[in-house]
Amino acid sequence: MTVTRDTGVAGARPSLRSRLSGVLADIVALGAPSSCAACGRPGPAVCVECERCLHGAARAHRPSPPPPGWIPAHVVADYDGTTRAVMTAWKERGRRDVSAHLTRPLARAITAAIADIEEGSGRASCADIAIVPIPASPAARRRRGEDAWERVVRQAMAQCTTDARLRLVRALRLTRQPDDQAGLTASERRDNLAGAFSCVEAPSCRVIVVDDIITTGATLAEAARALTAAGADAARAAAIAATSRARASLPAAGLPGAHW
Ligand SMILES: [Zn+2]
Repeated sequence: MTVTRDTGVAGARPSLRSRLSGVLADIVALGAPSSCAACGRPGPAVCVECERCLHGAARAHRPSPPPPGWIPAHVVADYDGTTRAVMTAWKERGRRDVSAHLTRPLARAITAAIADIEEGSGRASCADIAIVPIPASPAARRRRGEDAWERVVRQAMAQCTTDARLRLVRALRLTRQPDDQAGLTASERRDNLAGAFSCVEAPSCRVIVVDDIITTGATLAEAARALTAAGADAARAAAIAATSRARASLPAAGLPGAHW
């Protein structure tokens, strides 16, 4: 099987200033003493032992209950324990050096989503697939860098095993600033996100929406709504991790605030 990679990017580009600040932050991170983001052991950003939490095979995930407009999704890990420690360090504590450990798990989730599309369509291969990242809030951009998530997505795309031509498309943008999602119930999250995205460029091919963590599924459902309203085929979703059903049914205390 050949591996076709097209990591071209459509949509607005990050400014030169923001890209330079990201590069500078990476240089600073490289020069700093490193320790595992999960257990604190001196060494790589995620030690070999802790990284095992991200080694799982991709599996289908469906929140319980799924939000209206839910699209089939694949993830590789449960968002708890070590996985939670690793991803919180990346999302909330500015550990940009963790990024490299997130690309392979995301690549497996995207690859599984592509296979699911092909199986559903009865075709051996889909020629073109648009990979659409969930846009980050201004606050998340300040914490993690202008395009931190997009860089993870782009590197994951380069590691996908597929014959399809993958193209990263910045199809979504925030139309307003939702409230912080932490502490909200599933229905409150849906209300908080309703109409929060608009589609600025509807891909003509099938779309896989990619996010880092799935909690109630409200973010992906809102993304799918915006894409579908613009005429796009929001076929599947892929993410690194998802909260378990038991966690997702809790009143959301302590659950990640997603992007907001
Ligand atoms: Zn560790």
